[in-house]
Amino acid sequence: MRVLRVLMVASEATPFAKTGGLADVMGSLPGALARLGCDVTLVIPAYREVFAKGLAIEPTGLSFDVPIGTRQVSARVFRSRLPGSQSTVFLIANDECFDRPTLYGGGKDYSDNAERFIFFSRAAMELAARQDRPFDIIHCHDWQTGLVPAYHKLLAQSWPMLSHARSVMTIHNMAYQGLFWHWDMLLTGLDWKYFNWQQMEFYGQLNLLKTGIVFADGVSTVSPTYAREIQRTPGGCGLEGVLASRSDVLRGIVNGIDTTLWDPRSDPHIPRPYSEQDFDEGKYAARVALAARLGHAAPDTRPLVAFVGRLVEQKGVELVVELMGRMGGTGRAHFVVLGTGESGTEDALRRVAGSFPGTIDLVIGFDEGLAHLVQAAADIMLVPSRFEPCGLTQLYALRYGTVPVVRSTGGLVDTVVDTTPETLRSGKASGFVFEAFDAIALEHALVRALDAHSNRDLWSGLVRQVMGQDWSWEASARDYLQMFSALEKRPRPS
Ligand code: ADP
Repeated sequence: MRVLRVLMVASEATPFAKTGGLADVMGSLPGALARLGCDVTLVIPAYREVFAKGLAIEPTGLSFDVPIGTRQVSARVFRSRLPGSQSTVFLIANDECFDRPTLYGGGKDYSDNAERFIFFSRAAMELAARQDRPFDIIHCHDWQTGLVPAYHKLLAQSWPMLSHARSVMTIHNMAYQGLFWHWDMLLTGLDWKYFNWQQMEFYGQLNLLKTGIVFADGVSTVSPTYAREIQRTPGGCGLEGVLASRSDVLRGIVNGIDTTLWDPRSDPHIPRPYSEQDFDEGKYAARVALAARLGHAAPDTRPLVAFVGRLVEQKGVELVVELMGRMGGTGRAHFVVLGTGESGTEDALRRVAGSFPGTIDLVIGFDEGLAHLVQAAADIMLVPSRFEPCGLTQLYALRYGTVPVVRSTGGLVDTVVDTTPETLRSGKASGFVFEAFDAIALEHALVRALDAHSNRDLWSGLVRQVMGQDWSWEASARDYLQMFSALEKRPRPS
């Protein structure tokens, strides 16, 4: 049987560099595809932080120049391996572009992000064309790699080695499109004729995600519901027309989770491994460890309600702030919030946490180990997103027996089933779902969850049920493979 060779191009991947769910996907999808017989290579930027983690990274000796506008910018290539898989990871280094404290800029994006990722995209093509064997699929992720399908299509003569490959653009979040001023078009090396409203331009600006969507052979996003939402307003964030025009090749495939990194049976970040059989003991031990970590002498006995995520508008943190303001004094729950993001949101959280010491614990920062511990310790996980392409937090919660309270949007619709007498009976219930984007709707759903929590048998049954669900990559990797195979069969449009 022919082995499908896949090149994944992305701006972050666990464990090398992470700001959010994209990294988790890139750290686990290649291995899942490899288990189905694909030969997957990943290419990411060699940020400063990738060298600070003690991972085995070696220079390849390969370097080349990449034309960026009128300059030749040098790329050096390092190699590593994706832990737990055979997949090669290439890291493209250029100190000026990537030897920086953060991936994209702190509170404010780096002003040269267009140049950094134009360089990365073109360097990825150069690297792909320098391999011994050609790739069949070039799989690009998010705006940072949106130029790759355009280069593949428009500059095909530069890389004959890649001419028979098919490109795929996967959208992990429509809210981040890589919008830059029009003069950055000069850096791409592509003809101005492509700077038009049907291709690379978006209201006078260069739009890199749109570029990827327009030029890729196949397009996907990370859940079926989000695939529908983005073809309409407001989900499409202005690109709904472009997406609708590509609906014949647009697929929605739910993300899987890395069940080796996220497994309460073996997680090194939690004090006592647990499964469906002994989750009570395991979660209690995590609770004790979390309380100690947060400076409490002992955990309190109220249900623990958590939020873990980026503190940005998308995640509905304002609802969590309002909710805690309303419920902090009722004594019904203890809250823990872990996140980092917009300073105004961080301040609002600090204020409400300050009003209810002993009831609200707030950790501002990015802490992978603590995220695992919170998932294990909590009873309930809040995911009140304004919109959510897929969401991994609720999938980790399910695996850790932490019942999610989610808003009915995007991937949350596809992954969480509301608890009702019927869904409990049919064994499908997995969380508490609310519709309206407001704190009262969230509060109602949380109160339903807390009521269920106070019924010990009901809750234990629900926890066992959700922990037994399979959110691994197995089924979703098959869907990707099917998409790749279907694209290979389609004639390549000229
Ligand atoms: P998104 O990709 O939009 O940020 P997801 O739910 O898909 O949302 O993925 C979020 C990932 O980032 C999860 O792995 C979550 O645990 C992690 N994460 C978010 N914020 C933090 C934080 N402050 N500390 C540790 N991990 C975090």
